[in-house]
Amino acid sequence: MSAKPSPKKSIYFRSLGCPKNQLDSEVMLGKLALDGFSIAEEIEDAQVAIVNTCSFIESAREESIEAILEVADLREAGALEALVVTGCLPQRYGRDLAKELPEVDAFVGTNQFQKISSILDETLAGQSRGSYIEGGPSYLYDADTPRMLIGPQHSTYVKLSEGCDRVCAFCAIPSFRGPFHSRAPESILQEVKQLAAAGTREINFIAQDSTAYGKDLPGRPKLADLLRLVDEVEEPVWLRQLYLYPTAVSDELIDVFAGAKRLLPYVDIPMQHASDRVLKAMKRGVTSAHQRKLIRRLREAIPGLTLRTTVIVGFPGETEEDFQELCEFVRESDFDRLGAFRYSDEEGTTALGLADKVEREVSLDRFQRLMSLQQEMMQEKLQKLIGSEQEILIDQNQGNRSQGRMASQAPEIDGLVKLRAAAAPGQRIQVRITGVDDVDLEAEPLRPSSALPVLQ
Ligand code: SF4
Repeated sequence: MSAKPSPKKSIYFRSLGCPKNQLDSEVMLGKLALDGFSIAEEIEDAQVAIVNTCSFIESAREESIEAILEVADLREAGALEALVVTGCLPQRYGRDLAKELPEVDAFVGTNQFQKISSILDETLAGQSRGSYIEGGPSYLYDADTPRMLIGPQHSTYVKLSEGCDRVCAFCAIPSFRGPFHSRAPESILQEVKQLAAAGTREINFIAQDSTAYGKDLPGRPKLADLLRLVDEVEEPVWLRQLYLYPTAVSDELIDVFAGAKRLLPYVDIPMQHASDRVLKAMKRGVTSAHQRKLIRRLREAIPGLTLRTTVIVGFPGETEEDFQELCEFVRESDFDRLGAFRYSDEEGTTALGLADKVEREVSLDRFQRLMSLQQEMMQEKLQKLIGSEQEILIDQNQGNRSQGRMASQAPEIDGLVKLRAAAAPGQRIQVRITGVDDVDLEAEPLRPSSALPVLQ
């Protein structure tokens, strides 16, 4: 009688970084579970630890290193049989990292993590190669890839593509996420249907550059084609598209948003700046006039539009005049959602070599001025919602207090609605907005909005 295979080890998994990285973590967890590994809630109950890292900017790298070092102590103490580090940090820094972190048994890059189970088997058998990092395109899952959701079942992400071919001067992502490549439309449609049938009520489409979708596929289907396809899904699911590139938002795409059934009128276009001089230095390939015209087209064409953008202050060479132009653009464009970042030097970017770096104090001052302008505008918008009736999707519930979001609020980035009532995650209910609490809203229930099944 063949020997019963020894029970697979239990894994403690730490996922860091953006929703794209969270998706990679969910794919790794799905594969590990399928291959018989158990997933431990607490590190004390685990034999192996995996840290999926981010290396986008300095603060993200620091957080990743800290998370690794926290676990490394347990590895050193022998409480763990293996420590594996995956994701953008090893992909970007590869062998240098191995020298810095000898406690780590294996480093796995962004196009090797689909082999996580065999890498773990090798490592636990003492035959680790140490570094499983290759160049080239990052791994891109498809609808049949096992995936264990980390986030809530009712609200999740779907990746459209991986990598990026653009050359934004401040961005290192193409250097470690690799060249752009898309998933097939059928694979995305199948995944959307699977998730919606399983009770997911919000799907957020993500990519580094969603508007480049399909350029590498046979027949070159466009993002507009894909969104039209998924918009036909039967279930009452919110579909939200994130990360559009300003030069690639076509009239056809705008029409899809305008006439959609499931796709929300929520348009996210990182514009980064509004001074033509700075946009040129950033290698964005767009002018301020183009961005203004695009905003007008979007507002004219899409009823109930929520317009989100992100901008960067303190880019090398940015003058006070440039900054004033950005503030004027923000005032005039009246964005519904605005995120802002301070420029930071990044290895492997063309901006690193630019002269006229903006001093830290000046950059910080501009950031604070822009954020207070944004908060002022946001408060005005929130106040105007008091007394209005809104539909919200419930995210959390604690006793007779719940939290949710309107369709105009993307998860994790756009504030939320606090409800003085018990409601189940995934339920969509009608509420009346009763107040504003900083960047969030307060509400009371009007009535359950539909006989939608409440997720168990
Ligand atoms: S579009 Fe620009 S900012 Fe976005 S990932 Fe690509 S290079 Fe980076």
